[in-house]
Amino acid sequence: MTYNIFANVNQTIEPDIAAKIAENHGFVLEKERREKGAGVHKVEQVIVAPPPPVIEKEEELKSRAPIITFMGHVDHGKTTLMDAIRKTRVAAGEAGGITQHIGAYSVDHKGAKITFIDTPGHAAFTSMRARGANVTDIVVLVIAADDGLMPQTIEAINHAKAAPHVKIMVALNKIDLPGANIDRVKKQLQERGLMPEDWGGETIVCPVSATKGTGIDHLLEMMTLQAEVMELKASPTATPRGTVIEAQVEAGRGPTATVIVQMGTLKIGDPFICGDYSGKVKSLLDDRGQPVREAGPSTPVRVLGFTGLPNAGDELLVMESERSSKTLSDERLEAKRANKLTVPQRATLESLLETAAGKKVLRIVLKCDTQGSLEALVGALQQIESKKIDLEIIHSAVGPISESDILLASASDAVVVGFNVKVESTAVPAAKREGVQIKLYSIIYELLDQIKEAMAGLLEPEHRETVIGHAEVKQVFQLSRGIVAGCLVTDGRVSRTARARVLRKRQPVYDGGLSTLRRFQDDVKEVRSGLECGIKLGDFSEYQVGDVIECYQLEAIAQKL
Ligand code: GDP
Repeated sequence: MTYNIFANVNQTIEPDIAAKIAENHGFVLEKERREKGAGVHKVEQVIVAPPPPVIEKEEELKSRAPIITFMGHVDHGKTTLMDAIRKTRVAAGEAGGITQHIGAYSVDHKGAKITFIDTPGHAAFTSMRARGANVTDIVVLVIAADDGLMPQTIEAINHAKAAPHVKIMVALNKIDLPGANIDRVKKQLQERGLMPEDWGGETIVCPVSATKGTGIDHLLEMMTLQAEVMELKASPTATPRGTVIEAQVEAGRGPTATVIVQMGTLKIGDPFICGDYSGKVKSLLDDRGQPVREAGPSTPVRVLGFTGLPNAGDELLVMESERSSKTLSDERLEAKRANKLTVPQRATLESLLETAAGKKVLRIVLKCDTQGSLEALVGALQQIESKKIDLEIIHSAVGPISESDILLASASDAVVVGFNVKVESTAVPAAKREGVQIKLYSIIYELLDQIKEAMAGLLEPEHRETVIGHAEVKQVFQLSRGIVAGCLVTDGRVSRTARARVLRKRQPVYDGGLSTLRRFQDDVKEVRSGLECGIKLGDFSEYQVGDVIECYQLEAIAQKL
């Protein structure tokens, strides 16, 4: 579509276009030719003619407003701060100053526009990124000065850092409180690699009080400055495209969506495709609920005229005719119906092994049971050296694997590694949907081995895993000694001394040793296929009927170097 060619999956495209697309994805296209008579194949590379097709013409580029997202720990004041900023419009005497909640809004600060995304938090930010939408330019980390860096602040820092081209600024909130300690927070930021500007670093830190309104002006000033440094530009005359921030069905209006225009100028009457649906802009409302005729780059606008409800993160692209957008929409919907759209293939420890030559980095999100094991693992992982592959721990924290971890991994093409932790129930379907690999471990050397193996791409593991049997959970019992899964061994055997993992819809949710294995009232060493038994795994208690318990053994094998 970028090249203005609306081809479906089966359609033949010109070699030079194919070569450009290949190049964009890091491949070189080779064309095979059979010489007449000789019967030999000639392989030639299709050279991509520079420059790539222009989407935005250099000379048409104009400065655009920065797009800001607020992140930070719960109760540190994100909502209050956003409201305080929203109110500056009223103070500035803007006509119809009060904003409607449409998912985003813009304010004017001394002639410079700044656009804010209304949904704070890193989960929303990263789920948009996981859908390929990089809308935010600047993340404002809201930290309460009396509380300092908290787990969600750190998570937010990691989510923001994982997003390329995003700058992080800090709003040090609640400075009106007696317990506020600005230097302490600055020191904590420094420890997290965000050196404050006044300490010689690059991170702008603005002390504010959202409730008292102190420092808000300065914060806006700094956002404008940061944006100037970033030289954010877009062409107002390019083919318009934007990203859906939120969408809903409104009574009397049908499906509507708030779109932040990223390039071009969206106008009434424009035919478009958005996600799976086609549409035509019927009307546009600004963030005050006022009708407008058009919306240029970085402007949030509510769009009416959808034929179906799009998703947050979907791209809206203006097409040349209603017919072409309708055709494309039909094709996308048909492909969906035929279930041709498969789960995206992400990095896994195994596939990384196979493509070691092409891959340069193994990214992981690491979750551990305790701070001690977390520090030990991060330390040990950082010790692993590989000439071929870099290891990047994009996020590490104590706690179960959450949906937000999965989204971060999805957006950054990372593998989620858990040590002695469970997988939250919402994370399981998310991992499946996003195609993110979860690897659970309960033995440190096994974890380190597998990562080393993936990174070296050639080392044999010291331990090999052999699955010896499966049991299906038929019933869950609450007994005095804890929760026990009543199982039927469906194949192989379950052994008391073996290791086991709980699989839910083929995704692992727990991994550990068997703590009890019983037939009726008796402890047994082994239960064979076709027999029923009671199984307890470590401290896991959230068995569900239908879960599969996979029993395996770790076999030590000789290291071949
Ligand atoms: P969020 O969870 O990050 O969106 O936090 P909220 O905006 O809901 O704020 C949490 C609480 O902190 C509320 O009770 C606010 O009134 C209070 N709060 C927010 N900003 C300030 C501030 O600058 N000073 C003081 N004293 N309290 C604040």
